[in-house]
Amino acid sequence: MSAAAAYLETLNTEQRQAVEHGVVDAKATIAPPLLIIAGAGSGKTNTLAHRVAHLIVGGADPRRILLMTFSRRAAAEMARRVERICNRVLPAHAQPLTDALTWAGTFHGIGARLLRDYAQEIGLDPAFTIHDREDSADLMNLVRHELGFSRTETRFPTKGTCLSIYSRAINAEAPLEDVLGRYFPWCASWAEELRDLFAGYVAAKQAQNVLDYDDLLLYWARAAAHPVLAEDIGGRFDHVMVDEYQDTNRLQASILMALKPTGDGLTVVGDDAQAIYSFRAATVRNILEFPRRFTPPARIITLDRNYRSTEPILAAANGVIDLASERFTKNLWTERRSAEKPRLVTVRDEADQARYIAEAVLANREGGARLKQQAVLFRATHHSRPLEIELARRNIPFVKFGGLKFLDAAHVKDILAILRFVQNPRDRVAGFRAMQLLPGVGPGTAQRVLDALASADQPLTLLPTLPTPPRAGDDWASFVAMLTTIGRGDAAWPADIERARRWYEPHLERLHEDATMRAADLLQLEQIAAGYPSRERFLTELTLDPPDATSDEPGVPHLDEDYLILSTIHSAKGQEWSSVFVLNTVDGCIPIDLAAGTKEEVEEERRLLYVAMTRAKDSLHLVVPQRFFTYGQNPQGDRHVYASRTRFIPSSLLARFEVSAWPAVRDEGAARSEARNVRIDIGAQMRGMWR
Ligand code: ATP
Ligand code: MG
Repeated sequence: MSAAAAYLETLNTEQRQAVEHGVVDAKATIAPPLLIIAGAGSGKTNTLAHRVAHLIVGGADPRRILLMTFSRRAAAEMARRVERICNRVLPAHAQPLTDALTWAGTFHGIGARLLRDYAQEIGLDPAFTIHDREDSADLMNLVRHELGFSRTETRFPTKGTCLSIYSRAINAEAPLEDVLGRYFPWCASWAEELRDLFAGYVAAKQAQNVLDYDDLLLYWARAAAHPVLAEDIGGRFDHVMVDEYQDTNRLQASILMALKPTGDGLTVVGDDAQAIYSFRAATVRNILEFPRRFTPPARIITLDRNYRSTEPILAAANGVIDLASERFTKNLWTERRSAEKPRLVTVRDEADQARYIAEAVLANREGGARLKQQAVLFRATHHSRPLEIELARRNIPFVKFGGLKFLDAAHVKDILAILRFVQNPRDRVAGFRAMQLLPGVGPGTAQRVLDALASADQPLTLLPTLPTPPRAGDDWASFVAMLTTIGRGDAAWPADIERARRWYEPHLERLHEDATMRAADLLQLEQIAAGYPSRERFLTELTLDPPDATSDEPGVPHLDEDYLILSTIHSAKGQEWSSVFVLNTVDGCIPIDLAAGTKEEVEEERRLLYVAMTRAKDSLHLVVPQRFFTYGQNPQGDRHVYASRTRFIPSSLLARFEVSAWPAVRDEGAARSEARNVRIDIGAQMRGMWR
């Protein structure tokens, strides 16, 4: 085991204990439950990867390891790390290890796969389709309508609010009344109607064989808790590992307990100071209560050395999180000395902010840093818009994490609806959308067709036998022919999507003036589709975890090229870059929404800033524009508002930063021409003083 010892020697004592937990005489055993709880950059993910590798080296079967984290990207990255470590020790495997580690993914993604496997046992048709949030809201709306709750005079909660209430109750495993009282008090008087609505929503989903995001967890939790299925599902995995456990909800904790009731074989990892998903019902109590869920309690290992950031960066981040009202993990220390404090830079507005960052990024590149080693982080996805324009102007390529915008475009949704309708002809949201592309097919006709399909055993075979809608004629015939050829699976994937596109193109021209541009998007979609093994995997994964956007959106990033990373702070979780820039470090952005925040919400925003700051290895810039644009956040309309430095960096912490203003020396001529564009209503300000 000399080679094995080599990778173990890179670890510190506590990390090594965590890695070797349950490995006895170099053989992997099913160990009692383990919790690794520690601050940012202390090597939690690295330790988990080493632990998986060490178990495999010790004889554990990689196909029986379930590894879950918060994104597909993070899961794939972990699988690669495991493979790298294993390859140092093991002779080349018959099959690449990353392929053998098939059960690495997100809770939702793994749930979808397991549910297709157990569909029969739990009363699902394995061809079920998955509704994203928007589809779910549409279906909720349909039911709301049917029940007569949508008349405006009743002021019944909107479809979005209804879905949020429903989703909260499911994910927090909480009674409706509690959810209403705590998070939606203004809807509390509707409890009875909401119950009817949710019952109707559930019935509609079942009749249509669709699952929403929450169902992927809910069905899984129920299946895994069934006495017979429990053994079968739990028995598939010897080891269950979860990274970022602080951001899981009650339902996810229930799944783990159902999979591994004694805790044996279970490892969870996280940091309570980085809990940032309570808006999705995640609860930090999962991680804090984990040890006591088992008898004897789980083993706890804490790590206290940070390997990521320089000392000044860590000191500033620790300063921010020290002011938090509640916290379990301790402060970290580092050996990475540096004279460079993090910078707190005041700029005039978002345009200057964009220029400042573009110049700093280019200067770093001149100094030898790759663009990929730099990232710009922000609270809300629209905050990066002015920067995106500036980067495009200067030809700086970038990738924006967190979902392709073009997937939301109508024409892309149309194609996806067609494919989903073929996959599951009972999916009414998809069916409505697909059929209404035809001239002469209105909601009434679509409804009649869907009703007929709903009760058929073989809906796709039934379809050609239905009477042609009177005003649809040839269009209907070609629509049905397209659906049935795709449905028969004559051609190999991704030829399906090409067939759907060719059918759709004439309609695209009829429906949209900019059909040429949209057609190009659809070609891009085909390229993305080619990266997936099957239609079903494509639809599932695109719905659960869409690929990232690039500066020449739409498209997939060319991984061999160099590009800057743009990301929301939420999507930056777990990652690190040499240089990090944080946009809009002002009250109103971090924390977002000054007016509405409860104390807990404001505390979560503090942790968010902590997450952002701790992504930086060598240099950190927090940018403070003196004005920012509200982009739909302001009920009085969008406008520039004056901003001040985030409350999470009070004066007492300023000494930990290098504070400056940019541009340092104003160019007189530029300032004057800039000044000519100013329009301020001083009169209005004076009037405002007295009200
Ligand atoms: P986060 O809380 O942000 O998810 P983390 O605790 O998961 O952070 P990692 O991402 O695993 O931390 O590690 C942070 C950095 O420290 C990585 O670059 C990793 O390679 C490095 N690192 C971790 N442990 C060691 C070690 N023992 N020796 C050297 N470098 C290490
Ligand atoms: Mg991590």
